[in-house]
Amino acid sequence: MAIGQRSYRRRYCRFCEKKTDEVSYKEADLLKNFITARGKIIPRRISGTCARHQRQLTTAIKRARILALLPFAGE
Ligand SMILES: [Zn+2]
Repeated sequence: MAIGQRSYRRRYCRFCEKKTDEVSYKEADLLKNFITARGKIIPRRISGTCARHQRQLTTAIKRARILALLPFAGE
């Protein structure tokens, strides 16, 4: 059966896929895909994001938190 290959674990970086140069903190809806329900950043090995974009993502999420676009972890 070749069906059902989709899983939560994406092998490929979502930002590379979209050819994103810079991850923006303004895209809160997008960033929300990379934080858990409790507001924690999803680790690279689970999201499949590459090192470069994960670093940008972390920065963007932190920035978005300061601007209250995203919640802080552990609330
Ligand atoms: Zn990437």
